[in-house]
Amino acid sequence: MHDILIVGGGPAGLTAALYARRAGKSVLILEKEGFGGQIARSPRVENYPGVKSVSGARLAEDMLMQALDQGADTDIGAVCALRREEECWVAVTEEGEEYSARAVIVAAGAEHRRLGLLGEDELSGSGISYCAVCDGAFYAGRDVAVAGGGDSALQEALLLSDICRSVTLIHRRREFRGERRLQERLFARENVRCVTPAQVTALHERDGALCALTLRDTESGEVQRLETDALFVALGLEPANAAFAPWLPMDEAGYAALGEDCAASAPGLFAAGDCRAKSVRQLTTAVGDGAAAALAACRWLDGQ
Ligand code: NAP
Repeated sequence: MHDILIVGGGPAGLTAALYARRAGKSVLILEKEGFGGQIARSPRVENYPGVKSVSGARLAEDMLMQALDQGADTDIGAVCALRREEECWVAVTEEGEEYSARAVIVAAGAEHRRLGLLGEDELSGSGISYCAVCDGAFYAGRDVAVAGGGDSALQEALLLSDICRSVTLIHRRREFRGERRLQERLFARENVRCVTPAQVTALHERDGALCALTLRDTESGEVQRLETDALFVALGLEPANAAFAPWLPMDEAGYAALGEDCAASAPGLFAAGDCRAKSVRQLTTAVGDGAAAALAACRWLDGQ
């Protein structure tokens, strides 16, 4: 039994572990796939104060090492249920393992929003990707498309324009949500073009791989076909809170509706980072949440 179980090993969870360990609490971080969360897949981070420019993978690795150096325990497992026992919480993983702790910080982050189109699952890994850092190299010298208008889409398009012959950025509105600095850098590239305002409405395959998209103009309704070797989907995120639904108050979009102290009304339960309802989701806000949740959890434990 640990004092605090942290579900999720992204920036919020790793920061929570750091603060909780420094307050003398025993901590287990349970991560479902890879430590570092989304930031580990970010090609470059240039808006984290004090760090001019660093690869996301490097920053994630440093955050993990710092938590481990402080004595945090870690394990791999996807939590699918949480139950309350007399004096503790028990988290159950998809693999059937159980972990108990006096307090739980849910820092499960968010998952990639999907297009919701026919064939999307089958073509994932065969032309459809949700991560340019992971899969971009497979399409070196080829023609690719990116869907989305936020920072992720702009960053993915920038990265791909370095290695692909052409990049078509498809966004449902004329204005992009992502940072102006990224937009300027991207639109200066000769091998990048934008199709706006447009939605991907169908996926076409040849020999089991994606070969083209149907795009629909969201204003005129006009339809066109775009031949492409790959589509990188960067439509934002959805909170990964389903396993905690009975215990965490949620807003309409499924984010944990908790205040700045990240505390739920259930005893010893907290939520931090991208899975919590908030207006800004950045690395810096995730890290801030991790600290706030850990300190609140420590205060709660000390009061018991
Ligand atoms: P995001 O900011 O939520 O952007 C998602 C984009 O996808 C929006 O442009 C949205 O269009 C579009 N979209 C959503 N659902 C769609 C649908 N069903 N069909 C078509 N388009 C759809 O997500 P994100 O870019 O992944 O970023 C998430 C958070 O991480 C943000 O706070 C972002 O600032 C942060 N981030 C920061 C960096 C960085 O380097 N600073 C890098 C990556 C991410 P609309 O604009 O029309 O809503």
